[in-house]
Amino acid sequence: MKRIFFDIDDTLFPSSQFAEKARKNAVRAMVEQGLGYREDEVYSKLLKIIRKKGSNYPRHFDLLCRELGVKRPARYIAAAIAGYHSTKTGILPYPEVKKVLSLLKKKGYKLYVATNGSSLKQWDKLIILGLAPYFEDVFVSEEIGSEKSAAFFRKILKKLRERPGNCVMVGDREEKDIFPAKKAGMATVRVLRGKYRSGKSAADFRVRNLKPLRDMIKKL
Ligand SMILES: [Mg+2]
Repeated sequence: MKRIFFDIDDTLFPSSQFAEKARKNAVRAMVEQGLGYREDEVYSKLLKIIRKKGSNYPRHFDLLCRELGVKRPARYIAAAIAGYHSTKTGILPYPEVKKVLSLLKKKGYKLYVATNGSSLKQWDKLIILGLAPYFEDVFVSEEIGSEKSAAFFRKILKKLRERPGNCVMVGDREEKDIFPAKKAGMATVRVLRGKYRSGKSAADFRVRNLKPLRDMIKKL
């Protein structure tokens, strides 16, 4: 093994937990500005919009205001964004992550990020989390041109001129991290964290945190 690829959300930091907190803070900020609805009403409407549009849709709060019939939405959208961002500055990686990454780097492994989503949003997380310096490169679906799939991983392998047998993918989601990486011929480690922590896995190893990673990778 030479190269280790990591997913970000619920692999390097508690993303599910953060998203809930950030959304609640956004809603509270809107209500505090005099929106005229209760927090729980607004929050459940927001969740419906997120479910319908997906979490990467950039205009959740605009749509929320429209559905609530807000005539002059700027104040509330601004409040929501401020509430959301104030939560973001407080995010931290899972407690063992920095130590494990720096150990792996010291042992000579090359570390990468392989993730779905928008490049700007994913870099934003890595920088706020203080994790950017650990990685040789960051591969985001937006730049690669396809969501995580066997093709996504093959494109990365081609870029790096590497054989899949020298690579391992570490992630929390079976169908996005484990299945496609395996299909591309890479070894896989499933992290049992966040809202997808249950369910069967075809990964080579399953872990509850990243601490056992070094010993496992030696065995692969
Ligand atoms: Mg994930």
